Amino acid sequence: MSIKVQRRKLDKSRAHYKEAVKHLPLGVSSNFRFWGEDETVFVHHGKGARLWDLDGNEYIDYRLGYGPAILGHCNDEVDKAARDNQYVGTVFALGTEKEVTVAKLIKEMMPAADLVRFSNSGTEAVMAALRLARGYTGKDNYVTFEGSYHGLFDASMWTADPEDMKDQSKDPKVIPYGQGIPQLIRNLFWQVPYNDAQRLEDVLKKHHDSIAAVLIEPILGNCCGIPSKPEFIKAVRALCTKYNVIMIVDEVKTGFRVGKGGAQALYGIEADIFTVAKAVANGYPISAIGGKEEIMRKYGKGVAHGGTYTAQAMSLAAAEKTLTILRDTDALDVIANYGKAMQEGMHKVLTKRGIPHSFTGHYSMSGLFFSAEAPTTYRNWKLSDYTFYDTMAGYLIDMGNEITTGFHHRSFERPSVARATTSIATAVTTPESAPTMMVFASAQPKRR
Ligand code: PMP
Repeated sequence: MSIKVQRRKLDKSRAHYKEAVKHLPLGVSSNFRFWGEDETVFVHHGKGARLWDLDGNEYIDYRLGYGPAILGHCNDEVDKAARDNQYVGTVFALGTEKEVTVAKLIKEMMPAADLVRFSNSGTEAVMAALRLARGYTGKDNYVTFEGSYHGLFDASMWTADPEDMKDQSKDPKVIPYGQGIPQLIRNLFWQVPYNDAQRLEDVLKKHHDSIAAVLIEPILGNCCGIPSKPEFIKAVRALCTKYNVIMIVDEVKTGFRVGKGGAQALYGIEADIFTVAKAVANGYPISAIGGKEEIMRKYGKGVAHGGTYTAQAMSLAAAEKTLTILRDTDALDVIANYGKAMQEGMHKVLTKRGIPHSFTGHYSMSGLFFSAEAPTTYRNWKLSDYTFYDTMAGYLIDMGNEITTGFHHRSFERPSVARATTSIATAVTTPESAPTMMVFASAQPKRR
């Protein structure tokens, strides 16, 4: 690839890293924020669809904190609502009024929610959902799909081993994401290929007596945005009903993003239990579990749930404002249209250059894939060559595009931006986009 891109100045971020690493492992508060000793970026502030690092470099933010900033960073209305509710206090070891207001909004937008409980993060919500399913059914085991991510708790930190996929006649080994995850947990779950209802049925047919739940991400948000095929997710719904297993739909990423009713509305299904988190409050920490009344009423009747910080007052106010905006305006259509315009722009340039490519996911949460056929399973994707994506991403970041690279994401995930503020569309439709598009225009896929 021979393109000339000015490397960003990162002097201040580098100096900050040297100090930070003395106090924080890897110098950051989440392993994923470490981009290397010389490349780790520290944010000065964000606004709308942009962020600025300590050196003053400006980026169009295509990640938006992995999704939460659905209306853009520092949205004035949401921040005002949070401040206005600060008079209430923070947490009380008691309930407050806005819990009901926000629960009603979630119920209105997500029909599977007869009842709602709040948590603080996606991880906490999915943990609580799985416990509820186990408590309700009296069974311990569960099923997940290859390529899904459900948070940092032990039950979900397992993946099909990418090093064990060459021999496609057998299933890859399932390994923990890292150390400290007890091997004992491996005995509690099955992990089956995504978009393969037959494999799920094989497992459920044999083992449904011990399986409490099937845990599914409707779009694999951490895996290039591979979507469920409609017939697949409908089959998962039907199989869960047939075998008396709880269907937990993890909408931590898709909820209030791919549509007002999340992926459930998009696919025309209803979960028994679902989780939402990222887009709920535009970045303020809050998540929710919703579900069928009979199941949800188990909370407090045998199933433990709670937490000192659940339903914190400012987060609730931010959630009320964010959800009201998403419900009452065309914000989500605007976002999807930006995503569409961006795909069309990239498609035009890449086609002109003869570079095979395809897109995965929903316009509001999509991946770019350098092959004519988009992947439909984690295995397809993991076996693909993404060196070209990574190289291109490196250039794009230098040019002021905050996109995901490395590890397991590799997508323009969540190409969503502030309503009618700076948009993804600018990346492909305005003069300022010219340099970005030049990367696509002059890049050559590296062949292995
Ligand atoms: N479920 C899904 C589908 C997610 O994408 C994530 C986060 N990427 C989680 C759960 C965990 O959420 P959190 O990082 O807020 O704990």
